[in-house]
Amino acid sequence: MKKCCNCENEVDINGDCGWSSTQDDYLCLWCRDSDESSLSTIYIANGDWVNKYFVGEHIRVNEEGEEIDDSVLAVKRKWVSTSAHRGHYETTIDSWTEILNGWTTASWGDDISDKKQVFNEWAENIISCNIFPPTSIAIVVDPTSNLFSTGISVLTKEPDKLKIWLSDVYKKLSESLS
Ligand SMILES: [Zn+2]
Repeated sequence: MKKCCNCENEVDINGDCGWSSTQDDYLCLWCRDSDESSLSTIYIANGDWVNKYFVGEHIRVNEEGEEIDDSVLAVKRKWVSTSAHRGHYETTIDSWTEILNGWTTASWGDDISDKKQVFNEWAENIISCNIFPPTSIAIVVDPTSNLFSTGISVLTKEPDKLKIWLSDVYKKLSESLS
């Protein structure tokens, strides 16, 4: 028996157990489930294909559930607390620059959520390869303490190139996320 790297629970390493990619150590099932329930999602759009990654405190996997390490994507993630019970996760990628940051929500028919659909539709088009950006774009979807709102950031390795390509759309997306 071994101890979970996140709590004091014992882990049956020969049975069903979790793995922390960030600690390189075993996780108990409770800690694994807890991490899985608040994962951030990273979509990397490369023009005509998209890679999807899931990132938690401990979990770093691709769409197939395979562990990824810093050589694939060097991701950092932290909880930003805005008050005692409120906050959001913030996920960043080494050598990628953030060009947009804010939050979005689903369509509820009110003015605020209507405004959010500008970003949602653009992101949907990027993720489904209906729009081809001139350089890779990362769309990061982070959970927040509000179930109905989602933290968003858009990152790229070539911010100037992407901003020129986005042109007027850049301002609209920025307003949509604010
Ligand atoms: Zn644990």
